[in-house]
Amino acid sequence: HHYIKFDHVTYTYPNGMKALDDVSFYITHGEKVGIVGANGAGKSTLILHTNGLLTPSEGNVVIGDVPVTKQTLPIIRRTVGIVFQNPDDQLFMPTVEEDVAFGPVNMNLPDEEIKRRVRDALKEVGAYELRQRATYELSGGQKRSVAIAGVLAMEPDVLVLDEPSSNLDPHARRLLLDRLAGFTHTCLIATHDLDMVRELCQRTIVMSHGHILADGPTATIFENR
Ligand code: ADP
Ligand code: ADP
Repeated sequence: HHYIKFDHVTYTYPNGMKALDDVSFYITHGEKVGIVGANGAGKSTLILHTNGLLTPSEGNVVIGDVPVTKQTLPIIRRTVGIVFQNPDDQLFMPTVEEDVAFGPVNMNLPDEEIKRRVRDALKEVGAYELRQRATYELSGGQKRSVAIAGVLAMEPDVLVLDEPSSNLDPHARRLLLDRLAGFTHTCLIATHDLDMVRELCQRTIVMSHGHILADGPTATIFENR
């Protein structure tokens, strides 16, 4: 079962900035959790810990029984799909189609399965008509939709998104919300889009200055802010 556990996680950047300070939480399988907080609160740093791009200075991160360590990274990266804050960090193939296919190809799936996943994922985010375009010439919002499609095409057990709706036009945002509403696995969403959290997440974690300020049912959290 693919839960996410942060156990007393502290992270200090090489320049001495303590971006996470004793962060602990447990997300059960199938739960959708929103992470909110001001710029610089530590949301992106937390997210980079869910697939081992950063590892704690102190404490532990565990994804479904597997501790995130150098040794377990291959398993962790097959389990956790991350949509980064900046789509340019994850788009590197010449065309949209090749980019979305990159994960499934690396998973050695049969060609027909790869084609199906690429088509479905692009349709789900409203980017199917962009399939033959060069990724570098897309708009910021289009890039984000393609980056999301690339992660959806991998059908991850745990989905982690950093500001997934920023730059999206209302139509693309609506498609994304509907797609995420149908996602039944564990999902962690860092965002400034509070309406998205209200709509999708039963639970909200509020971060401030690297620590958790509040963690509870979204309705309760929002009523007290
Ligand atoms: P946001 O709230 O949208 O994440 P930030 O301004 O906090 O925006 O940071 C954007 C990104 O810039 C961060 O995710 C991080 O990777 C990088 N960043 C922020 N502060 C620093 C810093 N002091 N040194 C290096 N990189 C930084
Ligand atoms: P958020 O995503 O909530 O905006 P971040 O996790 O990006 O917050 O940043 C948390 C803190 O860590 C901020 O003070 C930011 O300036 C700092 N930070 C982020 N990335 C880096 C980095 N690469 N090097 C040094 N400090 C960083």
